[in-house]
Amino acid sequence: MKRYDIAIIGAGTAGLSARREVAKRTNNYVVIDDGILGTTCARVGCMPSKALIETANLFHKRHTLKKLGVGGAHALDLDRVKVMSHVRQLRDRFVRSVTKEMDDWTETHLIKKRAKFTTKNTLDLGDEVIHADKIIVATGSKPVWPKGWEAYSDYLVDTDSFFELETFPSKVAVIGLGVIGLELGQSLARIGVDVVGIGLGNAIGGLTDPEIQTYAIQKFGEEFPIVTTGVKELRSKDGKLEIITSETSYLVDKALLALGRKPSLAGLGLDELGLELDDKGIPLYDPGTYLIEGTSIFIAGDVNPERPILHEAADEGRIAGYNAASDKMQCFRRRTKLAITFADPNIAIVGKSYDELHREKVDFVTGKVSYEGQGRAILKMQEIGMIHVYVDRNKGSLLGAEIFCPDGEHMAHLLAWAIAGKIDVHHALSMPFYHPVIEEGLRTALRHAASLVEVKAPVLETMRCQDPPVGVFANGK
Ligand SMILES: Cc1cc2nc3c(=O)[nH]c(=O)nc-3n(C[C@H](O)[C@H](O)[C@H](O)COP(=O)(O)OP(=O)(O)OC[C@H]3O[C@@H](n4cnc5c(N)ncnc54)[C@H](O)[C@@H]3O)c2cc1C
Repeated sequence: MKRYDIAIIGAGTAGLSARREVAKRTNNYVVIDDGILGTTCARVGCMPSKALIETANLFHKRHTLKKLGVGGAHALDLDRVKVMSHVRQLRDRFVRSVTKEMDDWTETHLIKKRAKFTTKNTLDLGDEVIHADKIIVATGSKPVWPKGWEAYSDYLVDTDSFFELETFPSKVAVIGLGVIGLELGQSLARIGVDVVGIGLGNAIGGLTDPEIQTYAIQKFGEEFPIVTTGVKELRSKDGKLEIITSETSYLVDKALLALGRKPSLAGLGLDELGLELDDKGIPLYDPGTYLIEGTSIFIAGDVNPERPILHEAADEGRIAGYNAASDKMQCFRRRTKLAITFADPNIAIVGKSYDELHREKVDFVTGKVSYEGQGRAILKMQEIGMIHVYVDRNKGSLLGAEIFCPDGEHMAHLLAWAIAGKIDVHHALSMPFYHPVIEEGLRTALRHAASLVEVKAPVLETMRCQDPPVGVFANGK
């Protein structure tokens, strides 16, 4: 039996980040992956979806050009086959850049097989069993298919196969309006597909703040019909798919399944090792080290559904890789939470969401701004959106925000960095805001929050010479 210091299962973002850390300390490691290389993000995730969004948003701009005095926009047309081939070309470029980086170690360290645990330190690879002192599970996640829906697979497409479509049929239902469903649903609508979006509940694009949820549903609903009561039943009818909801039914050519993703644990054998599992079947692990309790197995990336986004998967891989290869385990702090939905306008959740703050019974105030009537939004012809900033009522510290506004991805980064830097609402307001920018809207929300907190604002927004430096809350705590 071959023996390794470390085995990494999965050559996705988390696995590759883990490998980089591991390779700094040992050459006796192996990466095992039986799938198509290139990572979920580059192959069927972040990158092809954003390529489609760029085209869709650009084409959508034609509706505002006439108002600006730019004529001829009605003559623009869009070739759906070329759009998809462009998406695939960009995707292939991103995949190539991932696989190119793997070139210098795959021959010696990659095994293209499926792994299954036989004990806590041995893996069955089909035709051989290997032993590893430490094992990192980084097997990612898979799209969820509700039970029984395989019977309609001729009509259903998930994100694993969506980007392989040559073109789009005329009528498509997008089932699930979380981050992925909303991004792709809006893009399809903007390139001229007749789309119906069917979600369950108001948590569109990941939003949890009820006021923003209602507003966002109304705004996206102006582009394509949105149903929030879910799918009751599927049927095939006259060569099409009939989707029955509690109010009505829709006859579509295809449906995109975007009902979330589940950890890729099936067949891995982790559940046969006698480990304690949580209610989702995930072994209990330490979120500071990613070590599964009572083992020398680490679990990193989307396979633990803690923070299923790219930069978090990479961090988790690095932490697991570092700890697997070190003599002494280190606990690592996580970054301030930041999640973005690349809908237009962007949606973002920063730090603690409205829902989390309520669940944790935090005493907070909400600073609000509407982008209807906001200077730069008017100039951009994008008067849609709102930001809610959540601030600790007593301390004035920034806790989180929910964002739905033009250039929201950038507002989200500013706020995430401010929260990570532990600056309070008054210090945030002492930062420069240029004119006219979308950030001035964020300042309005911060000013609103500053007027509601217990810690009183300085005389002017600019700090006095005797005020504490940035990084120390105004009340000295
Ligand atoms: C449509 C879509 C859009 C997205 N957009 C964004 C975005 O804009 N921003 C963002 O931050 N995130 C986005 N994400 C999420 C992001 O892609 C993931 O968080 C990230 O790819 C997770 O990386 P991972 O390493 O955990 O898993 P993966 O990259 O999926 O890697 C897992 C690997 O494990 C292998 N594997 C599985 N089981 C076994 C086994 N038993 N034996 C051997 N190998 C195995 C698989 O073949 C695969 O290569 C998006 C995802 C999707 C689907």
